[in-house]
Parts: sequence; structure tokens; C-alpha cells
Amino acid sequence: MNRKQRKWRNRIVIAIALFFATMMLEKAGALASLFGASAAYAAFALYFAIFLLAGHDVLRKAWANIRRGDPFDEAFLMTVATIGAFATIFFPETEPQSAEGCAVMLFYQVGELFQSYAVGKSRKSISSMMDIAPDYANIERDGELVEVDPDEVQVGDVIVVKPGERVPIDGTVTQGSSQLDTAALTGESIPRHVEVGADVISGCINMTGILHIQTTKPFGESTVSRILELVENASEKKAKTENFITRFARVYTPIVTFAAIFLAIIPPILGMGPWTDWVLRGLTFLVVSCPCALVISVPLSFFGGIGGASKIGVLVKGSNYLELLSKVDTVVFDKTGTLTSGSFNVVAVHPEAGVDPDYVLSNAAYAEAFSDHPIAVSIKQAYSGTIDQERIKDVKEESGHGVQATVDEHVVLVGNDKLMAEHGSAWHECDLVGTILHVSVDGDYAGHIVIADVVKEDAAETIASLHEIGVKKCVMLTGDRRDVAEAVGSEIGIDEIRAQLLPGDKVNAVEHLLAFEKGDGKLAFVGDGINDAPVLMRADVGIAMGAMGSDAAIEAADVVLMDDKPSKIARAMRIARKTMRIVWQNIIFAIGIKIAILALAALGIANMWLAVFGDVGVAMIAILNAMRAMRVDS
Ligand code: ADP
Ligand code: MG
Repeated sequence: MNRKQRKWRNRIVIAIALFFATMMLEKAGALASLFGASAAYAAFALYFAIFLLAGHDVLRKAWANIRRGDPFDEAFLMTVATIGAFATIFFPETEPQSAEGCAVMLFYQVGELFQSYAVGKSRKSISSMMDIAPDYANIERDGELVEVDPDEVQVGDVIVVKPGERVPIDGTVTQGSSQLDTAALTGESIPRHVEVGADVISGCINMTGILHIQTTKPFGESTVSRILELVENASEKKAKTENFITRFARVYTPIVTFAAIFLAIIPPILGMGPWTDWVLRGLTFLVVSCPCALVISVPLSFFGGIGGASKIGVLVKGSNYLELLSKVDTVVFDKTGTLTSGSFNVVAVHPEAGVDPDYVLSNAAYAEAFSDHPIAVSIKQAYSGTIDQERIKDVKEESGHGVQATVDEHVVLVGNDKLMAEHGSAWHECDLVGTILHVSVDGDYAGHIVIADVVKEDAAETIASLHEIGVKKCVMLTGDRRDVAEAVGSEIGIDEIRAQLLPGDKVNAVEHLLAFEKGDGKLAFVGDGINDAPVLMRADVGIAMGAMGSDAAIEAADVVLMDDKPSKIARAMRIARKTMRIVWQNIIFAIGIKIAILALAALGIANMWLAVFGDVGVAMIAILNAMRAMRVDS
């Protein structure tokens, strides 16, 4: 609770204490014996003073709204209802409603305070993500460490991260080794060991050793900055349900307000009873007309759901995506880097007769020198020599095919059979199962490299748990060969495989699947963004691998998995569904109770007490329920 909230709370607590004291005096007859016939006026004065103490801010707000010509908000409704109740003192033939008027304001304020506390709390859960924002970076200058604004650090500068500090900028370790706590980013509690050469992302906490890190990105493009940007924008993308509630509140409040006016005026004109009786019923209507239970609890539930997902390392870019995620019944996976780790091992090098195997590998590594494709990264790792970039020119990457480059004036092609066929180069099959990289130099076939990827540890579990929560179809798309795709597919239990697809074919495949989506079912595509960013955009929900995925993927995706574990998808879907359940529970519960109280009030059975308890009580229960969305069982 912040200072403002504490002051507010103290004021309300005092007002409540005074309220009960006054009530006791009144009931015990103390007021009657002191003031005799004017006891009702004394009670009025006391309650009204307490009312002002508790609700002066509400009154001021209502007044400001009226002056702006935009009166239909809760402050206005409460003001009219309570002042109306106090006004009964001027009608001697009715029972005065001073206590009721005061109570309505008190409980309304209790509800408001509670609301503000709940919103603050769920904002905190998201901003515990915000805590990942570092405010300085250490740089070594003349043998001394100085703290500088992370924005000032240039790409390629070496920063020093001491134990206990957060890594401020993405980079590569150049000195030292340590354990990193990645929990804030991934929800994973097991620390990650890093040493020289390891890539580290900003936002992790350095736990044990001093690390020297050469930055690879400016601060603004580092992981932390991007996450914060995503989280900050998340609340702007509203879910359909959320928009529905906003629209609903906009018509509900005026309708009930006008109904209140009718109820107060028409029946007494028709001679159906005394004015005061009907005016009171009208005022009760006003108390119930406040839509706060809905207006606050629905966004709060979504907020909680997004916060809950972020706790397990899943970033959802808006409540609309959370809503869509809850309806996903088809999940389409990219293979490389999504279901498989994307770090290929070289299984075999098969040179043509008379060719040195090293010649095949070195040409491949040179041609791939500038590519970020997982295959390229793996080949460069397998090649033990250093790569002299001066010797390479005219690099052309053909997505889904391979690369072409000129190395020492020789045209080198590295890629699959499609690439070879396209350039009219000779090649031949291999009987090993694996991804085959053909290498040709100046049109002469040099041989091929067989590489294999490992299936991610949690890939099979992912498919199983998706099926378990009712996903109908899991499909794998890949640009790789059919035999590799089938081996992976059967190992993890995927339902459908499409192999040898070019990036454009992947879009077509997803469009085809989208056309078959029935009713409310949605399609999610999961990829690493290397050659598949367009597909991420096309799917109902695009899910990207955040740690190893490309920047384009994180940009194009609606949901980002911080630690590249596909199994988080099923968990995120569970959170999404739970959130939607809570949202609908709140909507039905709040509207139901309100309608019931309105009916009772119209019949004259419900008095103001019931109305205010109904209103504030419903709001509190709805808010408590909404906060459940934040809790995730890990
Ligand atoms: P996936 O669909 O499995 O993610 P891609 O669409 O990225 O795969 O690539 C499909 C195929 O294209 C690869 O299996 C490989 O044969 C070839 N390929 C793509 N990029 C490269 C590259 N940089 N070097 C060699 N081959 C490549
Ligand atoms: Mg890919």
C-alpha cells in the first residue's frame, strides 16, 4: 500500500468507527434523550459530517464530472443516491435515511480502496518483471569500474557484471564464469552456468562470479528493453470480452439511471403510493447502477492472466491474445529450432572421390559465414579453423534452399537438393537419415555433409500435454527432408507432417489449415522466426521462441516464450483458459446479482442497505476472483 492509499484507508476506518458509534448512540436512545423531538436532525448532522469525512473526494469528483458535462460515472451516481437519501430529512412523513446515505458512501469507499489496492497489487506482479530493468552498467576505465547509463554503452564495449547485479545488456562472455539466475525471464529456478564464449541475455542476475561481457546489442534493443516495451503495450490490446464490457457499462449505467428516474416519478403520479417511497426505490436503483464490479474485474482478470503467464516466462502481448490462446485447437510447429534444438551435429562428411573432407567442411563454413540460420551456426562451430572474412564476397542466402557465396573467386553453393537443382549443379543422394548439405564449388560437386539435430527434451511432452488439454491437431511444418521430418514426428507423436516446404509454402499450409478451422477454434503457429516470420503474422496466434529466435520473430509474434521451451505453450493455454473462466464467472455473477437486486428494489423489497452490500460485495468478490488469474501452479 502506498502513502496515499494508507491515508485514504485511515480516513475510512475512522469514518466507519464514527459511523458505528453514532449508530449505537441513536439505537440506545441517547440522541432521543439529549435532543428530544429533534433527535432525527441531530442524527442527520452527525451522519452528514461522517459522510463528508468519508466521501468528500467522491463529491468533488462528481462535481468536476458534471462541469465537464460527462456525469454518468460512479462518483456521480453515488453522490445523487446518497444526497437523495439524506434529503429524506425534509419529508417529515417518511423515516429519515441519514444512516443509509452515510453507509452507502462508506461502503462505496471501502470498495474503491479495495479496488485500488488490487490493481496496484497486480500491477506489481507485472512490474516485478519491470524490476528486471537495470539502471546502470559497469565499464572499466583506466583500471577502475565506473557506473554509466546503459544507454551510453556502445555495441562491442566490454561491460563488467558483478555478482548480485543484473546483466544490463545482451552480449557474449569474454572473461570469467558464473551461474546466472534467469528466473525473472523464464520462471525457471535452476541457474544457468556460463563461461567464456557464452551468450547472455540482459535481465538475468549474475550470482557467483565476475563476468566481463562484450555487448552485442545496444541497450534499447537488448532483451530487457524489448520485454519492458512489450509489457507496457500489452494493456492496450484489449480482448473482445473486455471491449464488450466497456460497451455494456456505457449503456447499462444510463439505462438504469433513467429507470431510476421513471421509478421515482411515474408510479406516484399514477397514484400508486407516496412519493418518498418511490423516490427511495429510485435511489436504490442508482446505487445498483454502478457497473464497477465488471468494469474493474474484467481487465484485472486479463491483467492477472498476463502477469501469471509472465511468471512462467511466457510473454503475452495483449489480452486479446490471451483470449485467442484460450480457444486454440490447432497448433502448428516449425521444426528446426522449435521442436528441435537447432544445434546440429555433424554426423558424417561424404566427400566425392579424390576430395579432402576438410575441403568440403571449410568451403561450407566459409559460405555460411554470414548466415544466422541454425544450420550455418552449427557448421561454423564444427569447422575448427578460423574464418577470414576478407576472402568472402557476394553472399546470397536463399531461404529454404541454402547459401551461395564467392570464396577466393570460387562460387560455392551450400544447401539442399533444391539449391543444387536450381543452379544446375550435380549432386547425389545419401543413404543416411539426416539433413543433407550438398556442397559444390564452381559447379563441381564436392560432396555432402550429413547433419542431425536433437529433438528438444520437452517436445514429446509438449505434444502430449496439448492433446491432453483438448488441442485437436498438432502439425509440423519443415523445409527439411521428409525422412528427417518423419523421424522427428514419430518420435514426438505429432499428428501431421508437411516436409520440404519453402517459406512461402509454409504460409500456404497455414492458410489451408486456417480455412479448415471450424467455429470458434483458433490456430497457433510456433516458430523461431528464421524463415517463418510471415507465418507467425498469418496465424491467429503467433508464438515465437524468444531466447534463440530472431528479432523479427519477437516483433511478429503475439506470444513469446522466453526460454524456447515449447512445453510452456500448454501451460500458457491453461492460464489463458483459467483467465477466461474467471472473466465469465465475474460477468455472469455480477450481472446476475445486479439484476436480482434491481428487481427486488423495484418491488420495494430491497432497501439501500442491500443495494450497497450487493454492489460493493459483488465488486469485492469479483476482484478477489480476478486475482486468482495471477496465481499459477508451477
Ligand atoms: P525449417 O522449416 O526446418 O525451420 P528452413 O525452412 O529454415 O527449415 O530450411 C529448410 C531447409 O533449407 C534446410 O533443411 C536446409 O536444407 C536448407 N537451408 C536453409 N537455410 C540454409 C543455410 N543457411 N545453409 C544450408 N542449408 C540451408
Ligand atoms: Mg525454421
